[in-house]
Amino acid sequence: MQHFFSSVDDETLKKEKAKARLLRDSAWWKRRRSDGICYYCKSQFKVAELTMDHIVPIVRGGRSTKGNVVPACKACNSKKKYLLPVEWEAYIETLGKPLE
Ligand SMILES: [Zn+2]
Repeated sequence: MQHFFSSVDDETLKKEKAKARLLRDSAWWKRRRSDGICYYCKSQFKVAELTMDHIVPIVRGGRSTKGNVVPACKACNSKKKYLLPVEWEAYIETLGKPLE
């Protein structure tokens, strides 16, 4: 488990953000995003509406690697920002359940 107060220094943060920018410009990312599906809610969006999201945020020890970045719609992205990690997990769980 990653401790909440992980020791991510400014230099790491800067480095990972730069890596994220490179990934965002890569052919890999363009392919990844081209189906227009949000990783979290699985809804279809215009490609331009999908942003790059780190599953584990950099500040919490996540890295800008292909395994940790996913396309996310603006609604999921902003929810992820203001919800506590535990609330976010609960939200993701409701998304995984079939709608009745
Ligand atoms: Zn979404």
